Amino acid sequence: HAKGRGRGRYELFDASLRDNVEERLELATALRRAVGDGELELVYQSRRTCGERRITGVEALLRWRHPELGVLAPDVFLPIAERTGRIVELGDWVLRQSLADLSDLSHRHPELTLAVNVSARQLISGRLTRTVTRALSESGVEPSRLVLEITETAFSEDPVAARQVLEELKALGVVIALDDFGTGWSSLHYVSCLPVDVLKVDRSFVADLPAQLRAGAVVASVLGLGHGLGLLVVAEGVEDADTLGVLQRMGCDEYQGFIDGEPGALADVLN
Ligand code: C2E
Ligand code: MG
Ligand code: MG
Ligand code: MG
Repeated sequence: HAKGRGRGRYELFDASLRDNVEERLELATALRRAVGDGELELVYQSRRTCGERRITGVEALLRWRHPELGVLAPDVFLPIAERTGRIVELGDWVLRQSLADLSDLSHRHPELTLAVNVSARQLISGRLTRTVTRALSESGVEPSRLVLEITETAFSEDPVAARQVLEELKALGVVIALDDFGTGWSSLHYVSCLPVDVLKVDRSFVADLPAQLRAGAVVASVLGLGHGLGLLVVAEGVEDADTLGVLQRMGCDEYQGFIDGEPGALADVLN
């Protein structure tokens, strides 16, 4: 299928924008209007059990439909949004929109979970708990169906504040996942002392699984660690049946990846 095409297009902009200060400034200005002008969109990726490949949830992934540049991937504009603080507003929008989307389909998929990515700056913004509380009550979605995905960078900046927000979110009944697990410097420290429910094995390890013994050893140890702590372990970036087969044999709980197609509209992903 057309796996490469969409991403290839994003990467083109990615490469040129990185070296072009002027364009970056223009993007920062345009981003200020993007929320109000309805240029943001969400695509969804399914999360499935490794065994039966039964769908358990979806992850919302942000896209920006720029009027001239076309559809931009988060790698292009999230760093800008982080630096300008715009990320907080974007994050609010993602939470409210994705919960509204889920709520619309809840009668047909009452068990489905929704994962939303939360950036470091958003986590310590001082308003995340309030935003999540409001978005949950507006949508009527059960807190236990919302998974917030955070990365370790959130803790390197302000560990005390980050920890406190996590405790507040846990008290609401929300599920916490550590995203890109294994890529940071102090994963073991965070996973042992923070209220985390899910580990998402970074796709760099998953991609090398069938061929590389080293990747296998890393994934096996994340599984041992996660299961030892009673956590759910999800493999990211599963692209083919060989990789899924290895994960099944290793006892991995769930997976996500292009093996089930490109991320798309929620209704399409659920069909
Ligand atoms: P992530 O949360 O780790 O999301 C997984 C990324 O890997 C997504 O890229 C997804 O499209 C891609 N992916 C999934 N399966 C496969 C696969 O089988 N092969 C390959 N090669 N890639 C796969 P995307 O959508 O470009 O997002 C990149 C990152 O941007 C995300 O990584 C997340 O950290 C961030 N992001 C996305 N949406 C949001 C958002 O709403 N808020 C925040 N704060 N960050 C977001
Ligand atoms: Mg994620
Ligand atoms: Mg990830
Ligand atoms: Mg990532």
